[in-house]
Amino acid sequence: MKLEKIIDLHCHILPGIDDGSPDLEHSITLANAALKDGVTHILATPHHFDNNYVNHRQDVITLTEKFQRELEIRGIDLKIFPGQEVHITGELDRHYDDLLGIDARKKYMLLEFPHSNVPAYAKRMIFELQKLGTTPVIVHPERNREIQKDPNILYDFIQKGVLSQLTATSYIGGFGEEVAELSRKLVKHRLVQVVASDAHALKGRNFVLSEALNKIAQDLGAEHAYEFEKNAEKLLNGKNVIAHGYSSVQKKKRFFFF
Ligand code: FE
Repeated sequence: MKLEKIIDLHCHILPGIDDGSPDLEHSITLANAALKDGVTHILATPHHFDNNYVNHRQDVITLTEKFQRELEIRGIDLKIFPGQEVHITGELDRHYDDLLGIDARKKYMLLEFPHSNVPAYAKRMIFELQKLGTTPVIVHPERNREIQKDPNILYDFIQKGVLSQLTATSYIGGFGEEVAELSRKLVKHRLVQVVASDAHALKGRNFVLSEALNKIAQDLGAEHAYEFEKNAEKLLNGKNVIAHGYSSVQKKKRFFFF
């Protein structure tokens, strides 16, 4: 399938501010790789409130503008928007003004859980964010150990109006067969609404967004993949995206860790 434009809503492309691109040259390499993969728009999403990584709203905006200028100087035709991958804490509502959404009005926001678990306060915090007018988009649920054990934890969140983003690498097996299998299930059960690269540095985690979308098109039909990309555009523009047709997943008895 050929996608006219690919929008990547999760990418650690900004230089030197988290565990993503270490410096400007690497960010340029990432930008070229994205372009080669068919990506036209990137939401730059450095970690925020994730242990050592704190990237304040205004700093991200300033750095994004600076990086955009660098791309223009080099003739790289890629549009970058400022965003954050917001790590869940029990106090996000108190820091609301320091958070960046996917869209400019913060109708949607990328929300990350720890890899090991879904915190007990997650439900409450999601509700607080919803009250403030923001719909959280849970990032890479397929990589969360608790959701791996019981995917219907995600189903419960989706039922409460939350959305979810799958990582492209997961779908094509980059994190192992178990994660790939869960990814296929989440897509099939419509428990994820968008796919993104979550590219950090090129080593190990390449731009495989078009590959993942193509595989989804092969597995479930082109329309399914088109819908993901349409959703990415809608989320970036703050237009309504509503989870639909989703269903619960049968619990798997055993999950092999690696
Ligand atoms: Fe990320």
